[in-house]
Amino acid sequence: MVHFVGAGPGAPDLITLRGAKLLREADVVIYAGSLVNPALLENCKPGCEIHNSAEMTLPEVLSVVRKAERNGKTTVRLHTGDASLYGAIREQLDALSAEGIPFDITPGVSSLFGAAAALGAEFTLPGVSQSLIVTRLAGRTPVPEGEGLRALAAHGASMALFLSAGMLERVQAELLAGGCREDTPAALVYKATWPEEKIVRCSVGTLAASGEAAGIRNTALVLVGGFLEGPYEKSKLYDPAFSTGFREAAR
Ligand code: SAH
Repeated sequence: MVHFVGAGPGAPDLITLRGAKLLREADVVIYAGSLVNPALLENCKPGCEIHNSAEMTLPEVLSVVRKAERNGKTTVRLHTGDASLYGAIREQLDALSAEGIPFDITPGVSSLFGAAAALGAEFTLPGVSQSLIVTRLAGRTPVPEGEGLRALAAHGASMALFLSAGMLERVQAELLAGGCREDTPAALVYKATWPEEKIVRCSVGTLAASGEAAGIRNTALVLVGGFLEGPYEKSKLYDPAFSTGFREAAR
């Protein structure tokens, strides 16, 4: 059995209770060493076989899993944040399915939410944006046509950009070309929820210079939108003058 587990954004106590239990009980752990906090591995049982997937290819990962299965062992495949975002799990799941190897998936707290928490931000603010665009800038690997940052920026929705902090000049240019204003609020969150977390608040027009000044190049999210700063409307949900299924409006 293979358990895919979301490790959370970094702080070791941000893994789920279920994920932590699976990790404690695992015979074999394959963890995404580039981003998973190694402190999480301290709870593995003695004798647990630990592999760092940052140094492995997909066939190598699969061969570790296959061997564990042959020996009746349980494997945890530990991914950073939540595995459904830029986790490359689908290719693993399909390979396991093809070989009849059973698996399940335990969600994790994406760094997207770690960053929002660090900033004290709400992505879906009434009167500002009710949508969140999760995307990345095309880099060494492409992004499908129609999903270019420029096109997505035109929506004016809240945005969270993964895997793009090393290309801030281009991020800034594409956002501006898409219709963001120079003063549209932006933020960089480096290693959200880790002890070395760094927050840089800026605007789209100062994004590249701010990242450069703070020395942020990787392991950071770029957040963009009016949700970061500025006016908004209060929710209807808690408006005394608004009835909901659970309470009557005050008269
Ligand atoms: N599945 C992960 C994302 C993996 S892609 C998740 O749900 O968070 C790797 C990218 O995620 C990094 O380049 C960076 O943009 C972002 N990232 C991962 N952990 C982060 C953290 N603690 N703080 C800020 N960004 C992070």
